[in-house]
Amino acid sequence: MNNIERKDLIYKGKAKDIFSCEDENLVIQYFKDDTTANNAQKHSVILGKGEINNVISEKLMTSLQNIGIPTHFIKRLNLREQLVKKVEIIPVEFVIRNIAAGSISKKFGLPVGKEFKKPIVEYYFKNDDLGDPMMSENHLIEFGYTSEEELELITNYSLQINKYLKDLFLKIGIKLVDFKLEFGRLNSQEKNEIVLADEISPDNCRLWNEQDNASLDKDLFRQSKGDIKEAYIEVANRLGVLTQKVSSKLSENKLSH
Ligand code: ADP
Ligand code: UDP
Repeated sequence: MNNIERKDLIYKGKAKDIFSCEDENLVIQYFKDDTTANNAQKHSVILGKGEINNVISEKLMTSLQNIGIPTHFIKRLNLREQLVKKVEIIPVEFVIRNIAAGSISKKFGLPVGKEFKKPIVEYYFKNDDLGDPMMSENHLIEFGYTSEEELELITNYSLQINKYLKDLFLKIGIKLVDFKLEFGRLNSQEKNEIVLADEISPDNCRLWNEQDNASLDKDLFRQSKGDIKEAYIEVANRLGVLTQKVSSKLSENKLSH
C-alpha cells in the first residue's frame, strides 16, 4: 500500500531516526524504543514504545492540523514510520507549562502541582553538549534563530496548541502539566513557512491522571517510578488510537521477551 521507502539515514536521534526518501522535500521519521533522560545519561530500550508514540503523535498532529496549526505531518506509513515534510529545525525547545513540575520547580523552588494563572512559555537552546541552557526571547533574536515576527508567531502557535491539547486531554481524564515543542522552516519554499515539527507524545509531555495525579509520561522513567509502557498504552487507549494492529504487535513483543 505504501511504496515510500527509507533511503539514507540523515540523522540518528536519541528516540527517532530521520531518513531521506525519494522526494527530497520529505523525510521519514522512524520511532525507536530507545528512551533517555538526563541528557542521555540514563538510557533504556522499552519494547514497543516507538509504536505507541508513533500513533499518539499522529493523532495529536492531525488534530492540530485540523484546527489550523501548520505541521510537518503528512501520514503514518506503518507502525514505526511517519512521512513528514523536511524542515530546517529551529534549534530551540519551546516548553509550555500549565502546572509546576520538573525543572521549573527545581529552579524556582515551586511546589510541584502549583497551577499557573496563565501558561508559561520558556525557551531552551537545543544543544546536548551545553546541556540545553534556558534562553530569553532576546537570545533567540540576537543569535538569529528567529526574527521577532517569527517568535511572535511561534509563541502564538504554542499557546493555541496548549489550549487545544489541554482540553483534549482533560476530556479523557488527563492533566496536561507541561510539554515541549519543536518548530522548523520548510526549506523548499521561498517564503520559509514555519511549521510544527518533531513529535508530541508522553516522551515530551508531562501527563497526570486527573484522579490521583499519577504520572502517565516519561517521568516514570526519569524517576524510576513505574511501568512506563503501561502508562503510554493507557494514554494511547484513552486517545482511542490503540488499534488492533498496534495492540497485537505489542503483545508479540511481550511474548518474545
Ligand atoms: P534528539 O535530536 O534530541 O536525539 P530525536 O531522537 O527525537 O531527538 O530525533 C529526531 C530529530 O529529528 C530531532 O533532532 C528533531 O529536531 C528532528 N526533526 C523532527 N522533525 C523533523 C523534520 N520534519 N525535518 C527534519 N528534522 C526533523
Ligand atoms: N522536555 C523534552 N525534552 C527536553 C527537555 C524537556 O521533551 O530535552 C519536556 C519534558 O518532557 C517536559 C517539559 O519539556 O514535559 C519540561 O521539561 P523540564 O524543563 O521540566 O525538564 P525535565 O525536568 O523534564 O528535565
